[in-house]
Amino acid sequence: MSRRTLIALIMCGVVMGWMQDSAMARKGKGGGKPAPVPVLSKAEASDLQFMREEEKLARDVYVAMYDEYGLRVFSNIPKAEQRHMDAILRLLNTYGLEDPAMDSSGKFSNAELQGLFDTLVATGRQSKLDALMVGALIEEVDIEDLVVAMKNTDKADLLTVYGNLLAGSKNHLNAFVRNIEAITGETYVAQRISQEEVDAILGRSALDGRKRLGSPRERRGAVVGISQGGGGAFRTSSLS
Ligand code: ZN
Ligand code: ZN
Repeated sequence: MSRRTLIALIMCGVVMGWMQDSAMARKGKGGGKPAPVPVLSKAEASDLQFMREEEKLARDVYVAMYDEYGLRVFSNIPKAEQRHMDAILRLLNTYGLEDPAMDSSGKFSNAELQGLFDTLVATGRQSKLDALMVGALIEEVDIEDLVVAMKNTDKADLLTVYGNLLAGSKNHLNAFVRNIEAITGETYVAQRISQEEVDAILGRSALDGRKRLGSPRERRGAVVGISQGGGGAFRTSSLS
């Protein structure tokens, strides 16, 4: 082997090695293996897609109620619901999932949510109090569904977003209840989740609860007849 060939081989080796190193550098540490693609379980994926439209339902109902009554609570809260929708969309993109949300207000891919939207808006248009009760109901259902979604996942990014949405829903429930009680002069009665849970969210003691008029069972779903499905809140199919 001539000296020249030897040098050429060494150079070639150096160049090859450098190319290999830079390829590894591009892929990051881990010996050149590509980064693992994050994968969600079926339940995690359907929860995310459902929550995206459930947040849209809240936003679109409140916007419709603002058009009807011009109440401030219905102009403030939709902005938060938009942020909640955006947060879910970022997760859908991270995990390469299809976004079910349509651009047009009041339109839903999920037929069940479409039916609910129509019912809730029709109920809310009956009176200001009905509209506020619809708002409180949406927040209670949102809370219920978020708690289920949190039980279905151990992914930190999902838990963080769901946790933020849950805190938002509790604030919104508080706001609607304040408005409702200002009209009725009576203590708010839970419509979907337990009275204990609602009292805890409102920072009320069990003693306050005893002053309540009527039983939760009687009034639950009375304002809005959405209990047709029974059981699973706004969802029926998303947990399969
Ligand atoms: Zn929300
Ligand atoms: Zn809300």
